[in-house]
Amino acid sequence: DFSVNLPKLGDDELGDLSDSIEILANDLNHLKNERKEFLASISHELRTPLTYIKGYADVARRDTLNKSDREKYLNIIYEESEKLSDMIKDLFDLARIDQNNFTINREFINFPLYLQVIYEKMLPAFREKNIQLVVNCEDDLKVFIDPLRFEQILLNLLDNAKKYSQPNTKTSINAKREKGKVKIEVKDEGYGIPEEDIPFIFERFYRVEKSRSSRFGGSGLGLAIVKELVDTHEGGEIRVESKANQGTTFIITLEELRK
Ligand code: ADP
Repeated sequence: DFSVNLPKLGDDELGDLSDSIEILANDLNHLKNERKEFLASISHELRTPLTYIKGYADVARRDTLNKSDREKYLNIIYEESEKLSDMIKDLFDLARIDQNNFTINREFINFPLYLQVIYEKMLPAFREKNIQLVVNCEDDLKVFIDPLRFEQILLNLLDNAKKYSQPNTKTSINAKREKGKVKIEVKDEGYGIPEEDIPFIFERFYRVEKSRSSRFGGSGLGLAIVKELVDTHEGGEIRVESKANQGTTFIITLEELRK
């Protein structure tokens, strides 16, 4: 015969257990609500451009319409379709990240060279808006990153820097070693982010002031993707410092791994 020694649960332990269960249930509910909210936001965000597309397509197909009005409406349809396809791409990215359904291929990268390539890619867009773009990178800096994912991070941050800055300002990318880590900044002199919005800035669909954001387009998914991608890197962290009307700095820190 055998006996199993089950620990006897005293009142304290029972109490602890029921506390733990309650915490778990709360977590689950919280997740469920987050999912619900996320789905509700998706439908809303997808519907808005679709409403424009449908409405303007309906007007544009009337043959009483003059040529310049038709052109105007077709342009709106085109722009809204672009928004829609950008958003769908972002949603796919997030879904893949959520399901851990993407591979990270980290390699040792010569960072000054790497940033030079990114700089050249972004330069025309910055020139067009008359914003100066500069790169300051410590010589010989090697980082252990997934070059494609990290490019997506930097392009998203640079795209925002450009979008949320006035002409005749400067955006800089700064990278250096600091206290055994690698510190990478994307710093702009743009509109800044109001203090009360900062805690939410990396949430999905979060945008500062609906009115201001609709003027600039965008889905509110860019920074959520950036944060997820930074998190997939060894010791990766991102934070933001910003002052309204002075500018914004996104700061990424990575573990410095040496070959
Ligand atoms: P969006 O597609 O709206 O740009 P993001 O997730 O990239 O979405 O950014 C969320 C919000 O954070 C933006 O709507 C914008 O208000 C604010 N934001 C992001 N980057 C900057 C920046 N460099 N300067 C000022 N505001 C910014």
